[in-house]
Amino acid sequence: MKDSDIEDAVARVLSGYTGVAAPKPAFKPAPEGCAWEATKPADPMDDIIGGILTRALSERNCSCCKAGDCKGASGCLSISDAEAVELGDGIFATMDEAINAAAEAQKKYLFCSMADRKRFVDGIRAIFTDPAILERISRLTVEQTGMGNVEHKIIKNRLAAENSPGIEDLVTEAQSGDDGLTLVELSPYGVIGAITPTTNPTETIICNGIGMLAAGNAAVFSPHPRARGVSLLSIKLINRKLAALGAPANLVVTVQAPSIENTNAMMAHPKVRMLVATGGPAIVRTVMSTGKKAIGAGAGNPPVVVDETADIPKAALDIVNGASFDNNMPCIAEKEAIVVNQVADFLISEMCRNGAYLVKDPAVIAKLEARVLTEKGGPKTDCVGKSAVWLLEQVGVKVGPEVRLVLMEATKDHPFVQEELMMPILPLVRVPCVDEAIDLAVDLEHGNRHTAIMHSTNVRKLTKMAKLIQTTIFVKNGPSYAGIGVGGEGYTTFTIAGPTGEGLTSARSFARRRKCVMVEALNVR
Ligand code: NAD
Repeated sequence: MKDSDIEDAVARVLSGYTGVAAPKPAFKPAPEGCAWEATKPADPMDDIIGGILTRALSERNCSCCKAGDCKGASGCLSISDAEAVELGDGIFATMDEAINAAAEAQKKYLFCSMADRKRFVDGIRAIFTDPAILERISRLTVEQTGMGNVEHKIIKNRLAAENSPGIEDLVTEAQSGDDGLTLVELSPYGVIGAITPTTNPTETIICNGIGMLAAGNAAVFSPHPRARGVSLLSIKLINRKLAALGAPANLVVTVQAPSIENTNAMMAHPKVRMLVATGGPAIVRTVMSTGKKAIGAGAGNPPVVVDETADIPKAALDIVNGASFDNNMPCIAEKEAIVVNQVADFLISEMCRNGAYLVKDPAVIAKLEARVLTEKGGPKTDCVGKSAVWLLEQVGVKVGPEVRLVLMEATKDHPFVQEELMMPILPLVRVPCVDEAIDLAVDLEHGNRHTAIMHSTNVRKLTKMAKLIQTTIFVKNGPSYAGIGVGGEGYTTFTIAGPTGEGLTSARSFARRRKCVMVEALNVR
């Protein structure tokens, strides 16, 4: 769109509101700092014009980007892999610089309107629902981390962009009475330090970025070093887009070389008021012991229980789909099946009809154990997030691409059952009855309070398991990913905080409850 077209469009819209042709506004580039603050209108109509103009300008930038002829301009989303890790657009040399910049940005952000926040959040959604960007970040993640599959990462990234709650999540409470009116509002913490995992690097940046900005915060990300390139690219894309929308610069930042030292510096920095760790037990323990407000979203070991009342063909398909999703890397994915003996053979045969490969030979199982487990019994990093075809190939079994899951029977003490493997190997434990299945599931979940799944048509047993297991997510008669909004109702989160109790985090989890009291007034009942 040309500048003159934009001006004409604004004039046309204005004449619709006023009934008379409006004077053409002068061209203004996207302002530095908050758009609302910089162009604070004397007349509400100016606000409408400002919104139209900013949107038109950002559309202009986007179409330029796609044509590749606005390189380097504010809002240009055409960033090469090499450029993604250069300084600028939210990428800083040191953690101290990054945090100071975010703190400055957040001070300006306090004076932006809720409508501005929504525009900025919508801007983030727009970046990561663009099919070309979705494909690129998903492919880069697989290339850089060596884990997962592109197709499923596209689904996860899109889900984070479309379905993470925004400002509508911040609901104000009001109490009125003889003594006046009190409001309880959800207010930002300030600068939040967010640590992100290798398994969902971009999904977590998108999801946390939307929630933290919606709640009025600035975010400092500490990505996993293995996902450095794609994490920095995502942060740079967000900064470019926010700049085009007139947001304060550096609301979302990180360092050029993410490392454990930098994460430690972030956690210790006095300007970081809240920490959010999405990762394994070590980092969750670490943030919880900093003395700061911390949200810990830690490991899971989700059991799936199947009883004799379940729709077995459906349960089999759901389990294969859930346990093979992104090569079993989601923390919510089925990690072990506990099946009532009466239906176990039927379930196994149905799973094999739907992409599971049953390994029965004890020698092959022994080879698999040796290949994928460390001496301590945990998963070897180079096997995490690999495909079933790759894993079987490692132990001399050649299968076609239709195989999505390695299935084997095991006893409850087997390390594949006890450990969170994060690869598409599903051990199946037989039990005599549903009550034993539920007890074992509670045991194998290890008190993570993360995710569990059950296939049953017995409402009493479903209720019993839900009560006893106390997980944040409990999926009944569906694949695990229904719990994050793929084919299940409800919003999406990639930070499921069992240990610290926030559970399904969203914008309101990144906000403080503050009280505003008006005494002896504004009670109009
Ligand atoms: P990880 O714990 O190895 O790393 C997570 C992040 O913490 C990374 O950024 C890493 O650099 C950092 N980190 C780890 N140890 C650290 C230390 N001692 N000091 C400073 N920084 C440290 O986990 P991962 O392999 O990236 O991710 C997989 C794990 O995360 C699994 O256990 C999975 O269940 C869990 N996870 C949980 C959720 C959830 O919502 N609960 C979501 C995704 C992943």
